[in-house]
Amino acid sequence: MKRNFIQKLWKENPEVFELLKESKNLKEARQSLFKFSKDLEWKYREGEEVLHKLEYAAALESIEVFNNLISSRNEKIAGFSTLDYLRGLTKDNQDITEEVSDGFLEEFIHLFKTMKGKADISSGWLKPLLERNGVEIIDFTKVEGREAGIARSNYLDKLYEKVHVFINRYPSGCDEELIKEREGNRQKILDYFGATLDDWNDHQWHLKHIFHSMDDLEHLKKLVLLTGEDMEAIEIAIENKIPFGITPYYLSLFDFSRSDRKIDYQVRSQVIPPIHYVTLMKEHRKERAYYFDFMGEHDTSPKELVTRRYPMISILKPIDTCPQICVYCQRNWEITGPMMPEAMSSKESLDRALDWFAKHTSMKDVLITGGDPLVLGDERIEHIMDRLCQMEHVINIRWASRIPVTLPMRITDKLTKLIGSYLKPGKRNVCVVTHIEGASEVTPELAEAV
Ligand code: SF4
Repeated sequence: MKRNFIQKLWKENPEVFELLKESKNLKEARQSLFKFSKDLEWKYREGEEVLHKLEYAAALESIEVFNNLISSRNEKIAGFSTLDYLRGLTKDNQDITEEVSDGFLEEFIHLFKTMKGKADISSGWLKPLLERNGVEIIDFTKVEGREAGIARSNYLDKLYEKVHVFINRYPSGCDEELIKEREGNRQKILDYFGATLDDWNDHQWHLKHIFHSMDDLEHLKKLVLLTGEDMEAIEIAIENKIPFGITPYYLSLFDFSRSDRKIDYQVRSQVIPPIHYVTLMKEHRKERAYYFDFMGEHDTSPKELVTRRYPMISILKPIDTCPQICVYCQRNWEITGPMMPEAMSSKESLDRALDWFAKHTSMKDVLITGGDPLVLGDERIEHIMDRLCQMEHVINIRWASRIPVTLPMRITDKLTKLIGSYLKPGKRNVCVVTHIEGASEVTPELAEAV
């Protein structure tokens, strides 16, 4: 298999193959490849070889990428030499052949294609698809006036039909059928816990019934179908304190009738951790705090609960947990589970962080996040808003929350009135920013909350 990839690689760019194979050392290889890519660029720029304008732009860009990849500077930063690997491949070096992955080879196959102006992007992804479906492709540069208008309109109708089929593969959470199905799921969950619809509409009930422990896994197994791999991954997560949690509301968005994710792929993928992810997290448990801190927050926090990376914007993190845990969370290095009591900041440390905002008059924009800050009680939210709104320099306050998606019943009339009361058009903006992963998360409950 790998041999095929290697053959394909050099078929895409026999010149590079020859230059690398003939080179006596890395320095010589680098020099000859730089000359090769310069000559290629010259050909395109001088019009000796004419490419479609999209291919032209992509070719120039990919030549630059290639030059970066083979540069000494890049090698120093990356800590290894890509060029050495490529050269080793031309010389049939067994160790290198075994070490490189198919992905590495694929990357270069595509890079070489693009450098040659053969990325095949000029027709887009849709044109070949439409052609296969018998749609006549019009060259719009060759028609004019009404004829052009009609041709374009007909073409756009066909385009719509195709896109519509794509979109319809993923049902919206507001589809009548899906609403009914989820009402059934909701009833099943309520019956299981002996609860009522009033409980369901009370966010506190959901917070008390988040699925997050080994016992909860047993409840989950009784409520929904899970694959063996799902169960194993959840077990590893719970045993190793890797963040995991699902609210009853979000569970009701699952397709209860099957475990293969055919319909609810993106819903399940939000909350059921993949096995490779939990294995990696487990492996790096001890150094997790640094290993998974992708945003480098350890080095960008001038004060407890504050993260600053920009001149006029900073983050305030009054709570470090959420009712539900997203698998991809960038704060999984510090969050250990849903609604952990210790994740709530003390009033004193919160006030110290707010003092920091008061002192730094460059802070025009405050992003309140966490964790999910809308799980805070109304009183705490009011306190934060009161203090921020006393700061003349703060003109934009953003609450970043997945609550509308994970626990929409938390968005009560009282809460919306409270947050909205701080809006001062033309003087101070207040908004709630949320993140919806897919159409099926857009339920009537979410719509109402929003
Ligand atoms: S809502 Fe945000 S902070 Fe909470 S788990 Fe998801 S990504 Fe992380």
